[in-house]
Amino acid sequence: MSLKIWLDGELVDKSEAKISVYDHGLLYGDGIFEGIRVYNGRIFERDAHLRRLFDSARGIRLDIPYTLEQLIAACEETVRINKFIDCYIRLLVTRGKGNLGLNPFTCKPSVCIIADSISLYPQEMYEKGLSIITATVTRVHPNALSPRIKSLNYLNNILAKIEAIDAGVPEAIMLNQNGAVAECTGDNIFMVRDGQVLTPQTSDGILEGITRGVVLCLCQRMGIPSAEKTLQRHDLYIADEVFLTGSAAEVIAVTHIDNRAIGLGRVGPVTRKLIDAFHRYVREN
Ligand code: PMP
Repeated sequence: MSLKIWLDGELVDKSEAKISVYDHGLLYGDGIFEGIRVYNGRIFERDAHLRRLFDSARGIRLDIPYTLEQLIAACEETVRINKFIDCYIRLLVTRGKGNLGLNPFTCKPSVCIIADSISLYPQEMYEKGLSIITATVTRVHPNALSPRIKSLNYLNNILAKIEAIDAGVPEAIMLNQNGAVAECTGDNIFMVRDGQVLTPQTSDGILEGITRGVVLCLCQRMGIPSAEKTLQRHDLYIADEVFLTGSAAEVIAVTHIDNRAIGLGRVGPVTRKLIDAFHRYVREN
């Protein structure tokens, strides 16, 4: 059976799910999206994802042509019709079909919901941890385009990802305009030093990751001290442990950065505990 895609209110076959070449999502990367996990048939952190979607829409003055409740129902329907128990939902809202000019207000937004499987990194990397690099490309300045907006324009991240691929590694750290650590191309970054878990602040120019929020919450519950703090690349180099979080990536250890071993160069105990706690949590909530 072919996958069914929810497109502007209808469930259509994957091969028939088409968007106009005049859609400003394609012409200009004008639109927003969410990447959401479904565990045990339940949309994980559903309300947080939809809230961020509506916040992103507000940020770019995009009127989503559906209510929150309608989008929730549409996501649930898409998962159900495709008979998924565990999957990944890509929910996108494009500015829609317009003319060739930039003006977004002549467009009629389109909503598309894809439910499919995803694996961001090979399984062995989840066991061994990642070697990553720092990208030379700077994370986009929040006053140019806030990284808090999950927009369809990922070129900044893609340029960093290309640097990673060129270096033969799966991921790259992006620094912000001040040289502080921001995030990776599709994940948030954390470090552990002396038992404390640290992650950059929102004001360091990051996407406020839903998984990041869950991990901070798990730290609190488990009595692991944690804080949001501006971090330098050097802080990562001298960390005991580093790990990444994201809906697609989940929680994954980083063992090497720029050819430096982090701590002992293997998955550390705090990371291990948080990975286990995360996997338990997603099946309970
Ligand atoms: N930063 C960026 C740039 C991302 O694309 C993602 C993935 N959505 C994240 C962080 C992690 O966010 P979340 O945990 O909400 O998936």
